[in-house]
Formats: sequence, structure tokens, C-alpha cells
Amino acid sequence: MHATPELPFYRLNQLPVLGQAMGNITVLRLDQLGGNAPGNKVFKLRYNLQKLQQSGESRVLSFGGAWSNHLHALAAVGAEHGLETIGVVRGGEVQTAMLDDARRWGMQIVKITRSDYKRRHEVEFQRELAQRFGPCAILPEGGANAEAVRGCMHIADAINARGEKFDRVLVPVGSGATLAGLAAGLAPGTVLHGVSALRGASDLGATISSILKDAAQAARVDWSILHDFHCGGFARVNRELRDFLLAFEAAQSIRLEPVYTAKMFYAAYRMLCEQHWADTEELLLVHTGGLQGRRGYPWLDGSAESGQSGGTTK
Ligand SMILES: *Cc1c(COP(=O)(O)O)cnc(C)c1O
Repeated sequence: MHATPELPFYRLNQLPVLGQAMGNITVLRLDQLGGNAPGNKVFKLRYNLQKLQQSGESRVLSFGGAWSNHLHALAAVGAEHGLETIGVVRGGEVQTAMLDDARRWGMQIVKITRSDYKRRHEVEFQRELAQRFGPCAILPEGGANAEAVRGCMHIADAINARGEKFDRVLVPVGSGATLAGLAAGLAPGTVLHGVSALRGASDLGATISSILKDAAQAARVDWSILHDFHCGGFARVNRELRDFLLAFEAAQSIRLEPVYTAKMFYAAYRMLCEQHWADTEELLLVHTGGLQGRRGYPWLDGSAESGQSGGTTK
């Protein structure tokens, strides 16, 4: 919970990916932050946990799927801070490596039925959970709230501190809290693009405006959501995405995962290929981590370590 350490930036090499050079891309590698759950979730949780500890709460409950990066990070960070964590997981899901990690870090995993899971936002249901597990703070699924936005503003600080002019900054979007933090924190003069990981999430723009408001923040840069790169829907993979991900990893020494980061890199690739964006523009892509989720895709090697080929540290 101290000042943001200097974050690792990385320049892609000139090796083309499926015929397209991507050497105008710099990557902010939150996947390289260290700790048990590197990525954007640590930023989203930071002030949430601080607030909890200040209020003397020692138990926190949240929701997610069986591969949730949010629950994975909450279990990791909760253990570091001596908090009791409870992960409420949508039923019908199998045992996963994510749930194994979370349990190993002390999270109590509770599976509930799909119909109960639909009630997760209801006050009455949350009261029932608190009765069952004892007094606890409840974080929304994905951890999207005002504290998360404030935490993600530190990602923007690191980009601003770099003092480099980026024409465009890209970030993958689920709930939109990370994008909201960037929109509020980035210095004017760049354009921010969120790449939606979900199909048909047409209300995302409104959601982001409303979490900015909750956080008493306003966007300082123009931002928009790219809706056409979900590749079949949340956590789905189509042939194009799979081919791109494998070709990208063969050319560049950065690992991606199919749910969020591969879709963002694929969006940049397509925008460059189709010349919507010039290859002379400076792009910054925020790699939000989530590499633990690779283990859910048998066609990927599950390791979160970087590959060997190419690339230069900038
Ligand atoms: C959760 C997550 C996101 C989306 O963040 P939001 O703040 O929910 O939009 C992006 N990338 C990764 C790897 C994530 O785990």
C-alpha cells in the first residue's frame, strides 16, 4: 500500500505478426509486477483493502467464475494482508487451477447455484451471506467501484511519469473500472481505447460514466470502446484470435491470455492492418496480466513465464 513502484515498459520488436509490423507498440507490463497475482486487479483492490482495514473489518467476500482473475488476486492480496477471504463461485463450474491457488492462499470457496448467483447484487442476498459467514465486507464481482477507479489512476500516473507522447493508449475492458481510472488519470493529449472482452456490451459506456461519477472523477482524455474484437464473447476464442495469439507469441517475447489481453493486441493488430491507425503512431498497450487463466485453455501452455524470442527492454 505504498507509492507505485516504477512499472516495466517494453517495446515490441520489428518481427511482423501475421504479416503486420507492430514495432510502434510499447507495452506497460502489469503482468511483470511480481507477487502471486500480477496485473490490474492489484490496483483495483488497493484502496478497497485499505478502506476495509481502516474500518476494522477482517473478512471480505466477493464473487466470480471458476477462472476469475479477481478472486485469484483477492485471495493472494488478502493473504498478504492477513484478511480472511471468501470467494463465492458460480455453480456448475469444475474444479480449476485458479480455485486450487485461491484455496492454497486461504480463501474459503463457496459454490452456489446459478440462480443464486444471479442474486449477487441484491441486498437481501448479501444479508443472507453475511449471516452465513459472519460479518464481512462485500466487494462487487470484478471489484468495480470508486476505490477501484482511484487505484487504477496509479496506472495512469506511471504512464504520465514516462513523459512520452502516446497517440493512443489501449486497455482491455470487462467491468470498465480500469479504463475509468485511466480516463481520469491520463494527461490530456492522448486518446484512450477500451477493447471490450464481452459481446454486445452496449451499456459499457454508460457504466463507465457512472463509475467515474461515483469516484468523483472526470475523464481528462477522449475515450471510446471498441466493441468488435470480443471474438465470440466473454472467454470465447475464435480461429482468428487463436491464430493471432500463437503467431504473436512466436514473434514477441510476451505472453497473452485469451480472455482480455489477446483481444486487445488483436484489436491493435487489426486496426493497423486495416490502416485505421497509421504505423507511425505511437501506441501504448496496457498488459493487464491474468496469465493464470492460460491454464484453462489446453491448446496453450499453462506457464506464465515469458518466451525466449526477440524483443528489447526499452
Ligand atoms: C479484470 C481484467 C480486466 C478488466 O478490468 P475491468 O476493470 O473489469 O474492466 C482486464 N484484463 C485482465 C487480465 C483482467 O483480469
